[in-house]
Amino acid sequence: MNNLFSLKYAQELDKQDPIKHMRDEFHIPKQENGDDEIYLCGNSLGLQPKRTAEYLNYELKQWQKLGVKGHFSGDYPWMPYHEFLADESAKLVGALPSEVVCMNSLTANLHFMMVSFYQPDTKRNKILIEDHAFPSDHYAVESQINFHGFDPQESMLLAKTRDGEETLRTEDILQIIKNQGDEIALILLPGVQYYTGEVLDMQAITKAGQAKGCKVGFDLAHAAGNIIMKLHDWNVDFAAWCSYKYLNSGPGSVASCFVHENHHNNKNLHRFSGWWGHDKETRFKMENSFIPMQSAEAWQVSNPPILSLAAIRASLDTVKQAGGIAALRKKSIQLTAYMRELLEQELPGQIGIITPQSPQNSGAQLSLIVKAKGVDGQSIFDRIEARGITCDFRHPNVIRVAAVPLYNSYTDAYHFVAILKDSLNEV
Ligand SMILES: *Cc1c(COP(=O)(O)O)cnc(C)c1O
Repeated sequence: MNNLFSLKYAQELDKQDPIKHMRDEFHIPKQENGDDEIYLCGNSLGLQPKRTAEYLNYELKQWQKLGVKGHFSGDYPWMPYHEFLADESAKLVGALPSEVVCMNSLTANLHFMMVSFYQPDTKRNKILIEDHAFPSDHYAVESQINFHGFDPQESMLLAKTRDGEETLRTEDILQIIKNQGDEIALILLPGVQYYTGEVLDMQAITKAGQAKGCKVGFDLAHAAGNIIMKLHDWNVDFAAWCSYKYLNSGPGSVASCFVHENHHNNKNLHRFSGWWGHDKETRFKMENSFIPMQSAEAWQVSNPPILSLAAIRASLDTVKQAGGIAALRKKSIQLTAYMRELLEQELPGQIGIITPQSPQNSGAQLSLIVKAKGVDGQSIFDRIEARGITCDFRHPNVIRVAAVPLYNSYTDAYHFVAILKDSLNEV
């Protein structure tokens, strides 16, 4: 039998990795001793592609040389800049290029989407979210309900895990939709849950929700660049995601939206409009009647921050170089399975993994609970961090680690488990 838990075996797996060269496309943070950090935090902030500086510098130079004329000159004129990102963004989520647009920030986009897709009335005014949604999503939903004059106590439906369980069951979500769907205006759930790493069955939820007349949208913060999706085919109404987690576009970089083409001509949807959503052929006539673009671009309000979009272009080109999301996902499944196997083999009873096991229900992230008697998660986290591992701790007691296929290696997975094992033995 091969000894999985050996540096040699991990190095062998690295050798066989068809996209191992992609690690060289990234800046890997260093430890004080000069070694690479074991960076397992790409679910929170992805690392910087080396080409990002080049793409940003190009736009800075354009601005130096051309001033306002940069809107129309150069290889990537600023005026249509967001259009250069549509094809690759669309591939990431399984959309048509006309269905995606890079704009704003994630939470802002959730609000803009809810303006269009949450139009409650006295009979149908509930929003179904998860009980432990990311706080920003919870606040956004609560404030939208208040804004429309309804009471969050009544109109906010929270999907809960069963007693003693950590993750949601699709069947329970479908049951809520079956029982209360007639009162639900909007279902807003994550594609990948930020705390547990669970992947929800977006297709089944969309189908069940729409059969009951609900609108269905997803927050893909932890899904974009991580798992394979088919938003168009699944008929999802809308989605929003940020670009700084698995998409490596830098802290606070511009987010993205998906709006299904079914809605591009729907005049009954409310929309908060701005000039960048106006038909581009006549945008600069500066007239006062709003003619929306016939695409997701209609939801843009402002001209976008080009420097941030340049970082997104660098990131999308990096994904493309690796062979696209299919190639990333293929490695991700193997890499995460390897890390999981090591944890289960070496640390049984000491570390629990709350992330579901099947690749259908999980992505790159593993959420770990320290079970060893008399040891608390935070102190183990502090110990492994002091030894060069970057991951994060989320209250109440989860250590999140994500092996990102673009830049993490099987050797990283090995070192992580070895250091975790040592740290547990020390306390
Ligand atoms: C990361 C994340 C956010 C962050 O929102 P910003 O608007 O980008 O600050 C929101 N929701 C979820 C689910 C996230 O994972």
